[in-house]
Amino acid sequence: MHVHVYDKLFIGGQWCAPSGTDVIEVRSPYDLKPVGSVPQATNADVDAAVSAARSAFDSGVWSQMPAADRIAALERLLGLLTARSDELADLQTAEMGAPTSFSRAVYGPAPVGVLAATIATAKSTEWEERRPGISGLDIVVRREPVGVVGAIVPWNSPLFSLMGKLAPALAAGCSVVAKPSPETPLDANVFAELTVEAGIPEGVISVLPGGRDLGRHLVGHPGIDKVAFTGSTAAGREIAATCGQHLKRVSLELGGKSAAIILDDADLDLVTPGLKFGSLANSGQACIAQTRILAPRSRYDEVVDAIGTMMAGLVVGDPFDPATEVGPLVSQRQQERVKSYIQVGIDEGARLVTGGLDPYSDKPAGWFVRPTLFADVDNSMRIAREEIFGPVLVVIPYEDEADAVRIANDSDYGLAGSVWTSDAERGIDIGRRIRTGTFGVNHYLMDFNAPFGGMKASGLGREMGPEGLSEYFEYKSITPPPTA
Ligand code: NAD
Repeated sequence: MHVHVYDKLFIGGQWCAPSGTDVIEVRSPYDLKPVGSVPQATNADVDAAVSAARSAFDSGVWSQMPAADRIAALERLLGLLTARSDELADLQTAEMGAPTSFSRAVYGPAPVGVLAATIATAKSTEWEERRPGISGLDIVVRREPVGVVGAIVPWNSPLFSLMGKLAPALAAGCSVVAKPSPETPLDANVFAELTVEAGIPEGVISVLPGGRDLGRHLVGHPGIDKVAFTGSTAAGREIAATCGQHLKRVSLELGGKSAAIILDDADLDLVTPGLKFGSLANSGQACIAQTRILAPRSRYDEVVDAIGTMMAGLVVGDPFDPATEVGPLVSQRQQERVKSYIQVGIDEGARLVTGGLDPYSDKPAGWFVRPTLFADVDNSMRIAREEIFGPVLVVIPYEDEADAVRIANDSDYGLAGSVWTSDAERGIDIGRRIRTGTFGVNHYLMDFNAPFGGMKASGLGREMGPEGLSEYFEYKSITPPPTA
C-alpha cells in the first residue's frame, strides 16, 4: 500500500492550504512503518469550515434543494463508495490494525450499507405533511434540517461512525464539519474526495483532522447547531455539558460494558465462534463488545474451558494476513491502558485463564496485547465495570435467569448485549428485560434499518433507521389561516 501524504485540508468542499504547520503522522500499529500524513487542522481552519458550512446552509444550495435531488447526489456517492469499499477497508487496516478479515467484512461494506439504508429511509420520508389539527384546520408539519452539524468520530470504526452521521445529516439537508481522530485521518480524506466527485455542493462538507482541543473548539463554536459524537463516555459528558450551555442539539454514541448471557441450554459450539465477533471484533476495540460473559453456576467450568480454549487458539499477528483474528491495538497508549487493566484484574484476585502481561517475542514492534480471559470475576470488580477496549474478557457466574438479568443490568452502561440459548422465544424475552439499546439472540448484529444507540452512560439519541434520520430534523408546524 502506498503512503498517503496530504498537504491540504478539505474545507468547504475544496482542498485548502492549512493555516498551521503541524503534521499528523500515521504509523502502522503492527510494524510502525509510515502509512500516511495529513496537516493538523487548527482552530482557524475550524472557523473557516464552519463559516463555509453556515453560508452553504443559509444559501439553501443543499438545505433547500428538493429532497429528490439531494438523494440523487447521495446515490452517486453510494456508487463511488461501493467501488472503493475494499480499498477503504484496507486503508483502515493500515491505519489502526483491524484484522483484514474483519475490515473487509465490516469496515468496507458497513459504511456502504449505512448510506444505502439512509437513502432508502430518506426516499420514504414525508418532508412535509398536512395533518388534521384539533382546530379543524390542516396543519402543515415540516421536517427541516437541523443546521450545521459538527461530527466527531473515534479511531476504532472511523468511516462507519462518520457515515452514521454524514449520511442522515446530508439526507436531511445539513452541512457538516467532520473531525476524524488523529489516529485515523486518512480514510476520511479519501471519502472527502468522493463527495466532490458525487457533486455535493461547495461548503457542505469539511474534514478537519485533529485532537481533543480541536474537537472542543468545534463543539463550542457558535456556528454549530448540532453535535453528533462517537467516542468515550468521559468526552461525551463534557460535550453534552457544552451543548447544554448553548442549547445545541446533541447525539452521543459512547462506551459500553455489555453482557453475553449464556443460558443453561446454550450450545457452546455456537457460543465460542459467536463471541469471536461479539466480544473480540477489531481485537476487542469495539463499543458493542460483549466483554462480560455471564455463565450459569451449573455449567461454569465448562463455559470457562470453552472460551479459554477459543481465546488461547486465536491467531494473533499481521492484520493484513487473512488468517489473523486479533491484530495489534491502535496505539501504544491503548496497549498501556489495556495492560494496566490486566494488572488490575490480577490485583483484584480474578483467576487468569489465558493471556496475561507477557510480551510476544515473535512479533514486530507493534502494540500487541495477549487475548486474556479472567474467571471467578465478581460484577463489582473494576474489570467487570469499566470499559477496557481490548481483547480482555471476564466470566461471571450467576445462579438463575433472574440473577443473570440482574447482573447484566447492573452496569453504568447500556449499549449492547446478547443471550445464548436453544429457545429463541426465551432469548427474545430476556432481551425485553435488558436495559440496552441493542440486543441479539445467538449472535450480535447491527441492522442498519433499526435504531442503534445506548441507554444510560452509553449515549443519547440513536443512529440508523428513521430514528437516526430524525436526529437531523427540526420539526415545524405552520397553521393556515382560520376558515371563514
Ligand atoms: P475519545 O472520546 O478519546 O475520542 C473520540 C473523538 O472525540 C476523537 O476524535 C477525539 O479527538 C475527540 N474528543 C475527545 N475528547 C473531546 C472533547 N472533550 N471534545 C471534543 N472532542 C473530543 O475516544 P476514543 O478513545 O478515540 O474512542 C474509543 C471510545 O469510543 C470508546 O469508549 C468506545 O466505546 C467509544 N465508541 C462508541 C461507539 C458507539 O457507537 N456507541 C462506537 C465506537 C466507539
